[in-house]
Amino acid sequence: MTPLTDIGLLAERYDLVVVGAGPAGLSAAARAAELGLSVLLVDENPAPGGQIYRAITTTPVKDRAILGEDYWRGADIVGRFERAKASYAAGCTVWALGSDEAQPELFELGLSLGGKARMIAASQVILATGAQERPFPIPGWTLPGVMTAGAAQIALKGSGIVPAGRTVIAGCGPLLYLLASQLAAAGAEIVAVLDTTPKRNWSKALAAFPEFLRSPYLAKGLKLMAQTRRKLRFVSGVTGLAAKGEGALASATVERGGASETIACDTLLLHQGVIPGINLSSAAGCEHLFDSEQHCWVPRLDSWFASSVPGIAIAGDGAGIGGAESAALRGEVAAFDAARRLGRLTRDERDRQAAPIRAGLERTLRGRRFLDLLYKPALQFLAPKDETIVCRCEEVTAGQIRDTARRLGVTGPNQMKAFLRCGMGPCQGRLCGPTVVELISEVRGTSPAETGYYRLRPPVKPVTLAELAALPQTDGSVKAVVR
Ligand SMILES: Cc1cc2nc3c(=O)[nH]c(=O)nc-3n(C[C@H](O)[C@H](O)[C@H](O)COP(=O)(O)OP(=O)(O)OC[C@H]3O[C@@H](n4cnc5c(N)ncnc54)[C@H](O)[C@@H]3O)c2cc1C
Repeated sequence: MTPLTDIGLLAERYDLVVVGAGPAGLSAAARAAELGLSVLLVDENPAPGGQIYRAITTTPVKDRAILGEDYWRGADIVGRFERAKASYAAGCTVWALGSDEAQPELFELGLSLGGKARMIAASQVILATGAQERPFPIPGWTLPGVMTAGAAQIALKGSGIVPAGRTVIAGCGPLLYLLASQLAAAGAEIVAVLDTTPKRNWSKALAAFPEFLRSPYLAKGLKLMAQTRRKLRFVSGVTGLAAKGEGALASATVERGGASETIACDTLLLHQGVIPGINLSSAAGCEHLFDSEQHCWVPRLDSWFASSVPGIAIAGDGAGIGGAESAALRGEVAAFDAARRLGRLTRDERDRQAAPIRAGLERTLRGRRFLDLLYKPALQFLAPKDETIVCRCEEVTAGQIRDTARRLGVTGPNQMKAFLRCGMGPCQGRLCGPTVVELISEVRGTSPAETGYYRLRPPVKPVTLAELAALPQTDGSVKAVVR
């Protein structure tokens, strides 16, 4: 299958547009095409795979043991999609999604590809835009040499490179072990793995342990943990962390049980779990709610992953964190429902054909709750010390946010954005939003659910003026930008 790399080659309209070519999007697009829909799959990356199967068709990493068997399973998912009669636009970013005012039964999507922008129409849309790493703001995290562990994994999968020099990995969550073992297997010099999982979380997670015992995560997780602890220096119970250095990282200061240690390092990789990427779904008007167990905002969805906007479904980790296997199955379930909404399947046919997929989905989600409760980050890593930069785009500190909330009685992040510009930069609040909400909630004594989240608008990804200027000036395209 040759990806479309010229935006002019896209059709005016599709039955279904799927945004995101990770396991959810690839499976949704393949299933929908197999059901006879005209389908366009778009993804901002040059090749399919999403996060987990990133660069699966192009990776320079040939030794399968480095990335592990789960990664190579991506080839089958891509293969199925390539056999399906669907269109695929690589390197294509979706920056707007709304109803087409001229044809309200249709959606209008704003896309950029190869430096050009265009609006196309779709009857149904499946957002499979995945997750992002949860922000992990600590003092000094903006120093050169500090990055997310996921970014290091992207560099490994995409270019076969590992971080230079003495590397420390810090944080919590199932991915922490995977990333440590992959980078170590690829030759990174990992001098320490710092686990910030709060000890008290074990008692909270206990209630969900029986289900975890019946889940596919148990054996895999234990093996990975044992391997990582055997091969690498592992430090658990970390309650404080700061990156230190003049102009660049020189060391990490670690607090644990009242004691403090300084570890000299050249690279510090941070990771405290993943959260759904909600910018496009939120800007498209889909309702979101705060999931207190996953401690993040998730879209409000029905059992077919249909959102509060009829015709837009959200599948994969963008629907709530469930992992790669459930992402693929969620994509298929959403595709069945899209076919039903387009009259290609009756309700009964949809239910019957989707039943085995649903059963598989239930299995893959078993044990998830235990992981969510166990790896919920500690408050000090969600609402950091005052000197910590929280909004990297606008260089706003935690202290400024706390102070403004106290002095001006700020009740929510949109007011804070107006006062301090946090969330106004190129990342559109992806790296500061959860932290700003946490800090306001802390000052006001409210829950994140009560505090709310940023009101997100298109464009949700940066668009150049040249791209906008090149857009055919229709009412819809003007409104898509000035809405
Ligand atoms: C950095 C990172 C690394 C991870 N690594 C692993 C791992 O090694 N193993 C594992 O089990 N899990 C990993 N995960 C968890 C991961 O969320 C799931 O395993 C799985 O990839 C989720 O599948 P998905 O299809 O929902 O989303 P994803 O696989 O994330 O795919 C979503 C795709 O949509 C694209 N996209 C998003 N917005 C737009 C837009 N506006 N326009 C166009 N394209 C867009 C993204 O670039 C991405 O390619 C990782 C998560 C992150 C954030």
